[in-house]
Amino acid sequence: MSKRISFEFFPPKTDAGKEKLLATQQKLLAKKPAFFSCTFGAGGSTRDNTRDMVNQLRNQHGDTAPHLSCIGQSRDEILELVNGYKDAGVTRIVALRGDLPSGMGYAQSEIKYADELVQLIREETGDHFALEVAAYPEMHPQARSFEDDIAHFKRKIDAGANSGLTQYFYNADAYGYYLDALQKIGCDAPVYPGIMPILNVANLVRFSSTCGADIPRWLHSKLNDIKDDDAAVKAFGEEVVTRLCERLLAMGAPGLHFYTMNQAGPNLRILDNLGM
Ligand code: FAD
Repeated sequence: MSKRISFEFFPPKTDAGKEKLLATQQKLLAKKPAFFSCTFGAGGSTRDNTRDMVNQLRNQHGDTAPHLSCIGQSRDEILELVNGYKDAGVTRIVALRGDLPSGMGYAQSEIKYADELVQLIREETGDHFALEVAAYPEMHPQARSFEDDIAHFKRKIDAGANSGLTQYFYNADAYGYYLDALQKIGCDAPVYPGIMPILNVANLVRFSSTCGADIPRWLHSKLNDIKDDDAAVKAFGEEVVTRLCERLLAMGAPGLHFYTMNQAGPNLRILDNLGM
């Protein structure tokens, strides 16, 4: 069975950045991805930027999905975006709760969790959109327990989401355990592992600590040893992430979702190594 590939971008702030991203997308088209996606800034901070970038990316690949997070947006603001996407011909959304900039209270939001967002989109637009939702093999950092978190994931699927895209991780066993746990509670929706190429050690460590991704001790210590040698980090990172992908695919992952960091090269090299 062929494996689904997708690539995630973030919306650049400048016109030059946008041009560069369109060129990156051109290069990634070589891998015949099922879709591209474009992130949504915390609390709606990139609301217009995401929408504009998605429109531009869709000129080169019709299935480009906006991420949409509900936290910090009113119900009307969400519906305006969703209906605008529908009218523009967008057919896929990555539906998220999102995070709020510090100081904004979660309690003020009308739509508090991603399952409520999925439900709202389904009520408003029926089956128009394919809906992707977030999944956390290493548990969402705010979840009360692993069991609670997988129950929440199932709730998103039961509300009408089609599949999961995971937070990135470097421990293949976490993914296998997650799939088993979902199956035990009767959830067999496809869950696509999120793949983060390793490019810069300081950024990876900082970002991982905020999003709850674990960098295993052996990997962290090896990266620490070579952190000032960019070429060594990239070569070692490519080898580690290629091997991770090989294991995930062998475990039955239905495809791979790449956190591209708006770059083509590292993602293309991993896919080349995998023969994909
Ligand atoms: P939810 O699924 O709503 O879960 C959030 C937390 O609440 C979890 O701990 C869950 O266990 C808990 N929970 C859920 N329902 C309930 C309930 N009813 N009662 C109590 N607890 C509950 N962030 C952005 O800002 N922009 C992006 O574009 C973006 N893209 C992402 C793409 C992917 C593939 C992934 C994996 C993450 C992305 N994120 C993005 C990060 C994401 O927004 C954060 O991880 C956020 O904290 C949770 O969003 P969620 O959709 O997973 O929330």
